Amino acid sequence: MLRLFPRRWRDLIAVAVGLVLATLPLLIVHLGLTQYIEREGRAEVQANAKKAIARAEWRIDQALTGISALASTAVQSCSEVDLGELRRAVMAITPVKELVIVGPDGTGRCAHLGLAGQSWVLSREIPTRSDPNVLLGVVRLHEKEQRGLRIRWQRPSEPLSLAAVIPSDMFLPDVDMREGQDDAGIRIIMSEGTLVVGSGPAGQESSSESARLYGRTESERYPLVAISSISRSRLLDQHGELRTWATVGSLAFSVLIVVFMLFAPWRNRANPVNEIVRGIEAKEFVPFFQPIIDLHTGRFVGAEILVRWRKPDGTLVSPAMFIPLAESSGLIIELTQALMCAVRDQAGAAIGRRPTFKVGFNMAAVHFKDDRIVHDVKKIFADSPIRFSQILIEVTERQPIESLTSARRVIASLQALGCKVAIDDVGSGHAGLSYILKLGVDTIKIDKMFIDAIGNERYSTAIIDTLVELSRNMRLEIVAEGVESFEQVQFLRDHGVRMAQGFVFAPPLPAKSFLDLLEAVDPRTQATDDREIMEAAAARSPAPQAVAAA
Ligand code: C2E
Ligand code: CA
Ligand code: CA
Repeated sequence: MLRLFPRRWRDLIAVAVGLVLATLPLLIVHLGLTQYIEREGRAEVQANAKKAIARAEWRIDQALTGISALASTAVQSCSEVDLGELRRAVMAITPVKELVIVGPDGTGRCAHLGLAGQSWVLSREIPTRSDPNVLLGVVRLHEKEQRGLRIRWQRPSEPLSLAAVIPSDMFLPDVDMREGQDDAGIRIIMSEGTLVVGSGPAGQESSSESARLYGRTESERYPLVAISSISRSRLLDQHGELRTWATVGSLAFSVLIVVFMLFAPWRNRANPVNEIVRGIEAKEFVPFFQPIIDLHTGRFVGAEILVRWRKPDGTLVSPAMFIPLAESSGLIIELTQALMCAVRDQAGAAIGRRPTFKVGFNMAAVHFKDDRIVHDVKKIFADSPIRFSQILIEVTERQPIESLTSARRVIASLQALGCKVAIDDVGSGHAGLSYILKLGVDTIKIDKMFIDAIGNERYSTAIIDTLVELSRNMRLEIVAEGVESFEQVQFLRDHGVRMAQGFVFAPPLPAKSFLDLLEAVDPRTQATDDREIMEAAAARSPAPQAVAAA
């Protein structure tokens, strides 16, 4: 994906992507944590509201038990005797602070202290679900501004009824139970909305909705609703330690991502396989041309392409340093394609104008596994000045070929196109003569090792004679490699070797030097061009264009 962008942008893009990715853990942790804290907060306020309702129900139950006991003693008037009963009962029933005898209109007639009518009814009286004769209402107590819940038991046949008042603060949790919850608020209201009791900020209804979390529970037995709340900021403070650790953790993770992305381009550069990929993309693999000479005429009859890696700083790296890795990584396929394209583009015209001139490409064993090289050659040279008949494919004997059958098929396909195929480094490998016999090649290239031995070692020269004899019998071309001295030239010519390459003639040359040299030793005029073209046409079989079309 990154390869779509120019190289100098890639590092910047990698860092930018890293920074964006690095914010993700922070965001995810922040969102996840906020949701978790909110969930916890909601559960807490809901539980508080339930507790408040349970407490209120328990207090009312206590009061009702007390009143029913009193009713059984038939207290029904404001007489001193009855008021005495009421006073005793107030002492006995825990949450009740006032007992009142109430008239049919709902107003108090007398109370246990004889101050009836001093507490004001603030709400409508609402019957409870379990017993419609039991009515609940909110009153203001006579002594102070305090409110209370009045529970009135209306006895069916009695005009006067009995009511117990529970002060509203009896519905709040004990002070020590509220510890650490000073920001938590609780409100108990009648189902029609009148406030019974409120504590904390929620009690005053002053905080804005968004700043607090609310929980609400309704009593199933009494017309009461509890609303509990807590401020969001308080909730966040409660989880402060968790938030700190989560922030530190996600920050560390983000830093790791940034560091990884910063080092990723560097790691890529440090990886030699990636370096080869980059080199191919940047067209850093360049062809050098080593001329092949006809030892009888002295003319250039071809050139072997030897790859060099021209690094951005201008240094040239020899193939021994990177070809083994290119082969083992499979990149040799792309590298060979790139080299063929470079030869076509840089020297295609000059080679095309010399129809008998051959250009040799080195292959690796992997090239002979399938037909890809055949397609590559077709695609690269089909519309180029270089004819298929000018292409020589070199198969080295140094590397074992996995399947001779498959290699034979690929070689036959290349030959069907019109290309020539050579066995390279003959005598150096372990194949003996089997490659020459089984692969059906057109040319053999004698390894430098035997050329070096000329004049020194009897057996090596005998091997050269054997190879020359074999090539004659099998109608193969023969080329000597690594020729360094005039004695070697003399020997080879005398022993029937027609073609040679080596430092004695020319080292591998960059395209420009090679083309200048070629033009100097083999200048082209219209007459030579025409003559060669006619000679080549007569000698050519099959015609490359016809094969290409096939
Ligand atoms: P090779 O195919 O046997 O190539 C001949 C090697 O001998 C070349 O080395 C060449 O520079 C060197 N040479 C030529 N004449 C003389 C001479 O007179 N004296 C001496 N001492 N050496 C001479 P180079 O260019 O370093 O290439 C080494 C090997 O790398 C090649 O051996 C070939 O196996 C491989 N190679 C080079 N280019 C490619 C390529 O494009 N693809 C593949 N697959 N292999 C390549
Ligand atoms: Ca070679
Ligand atoms: Ca060779």
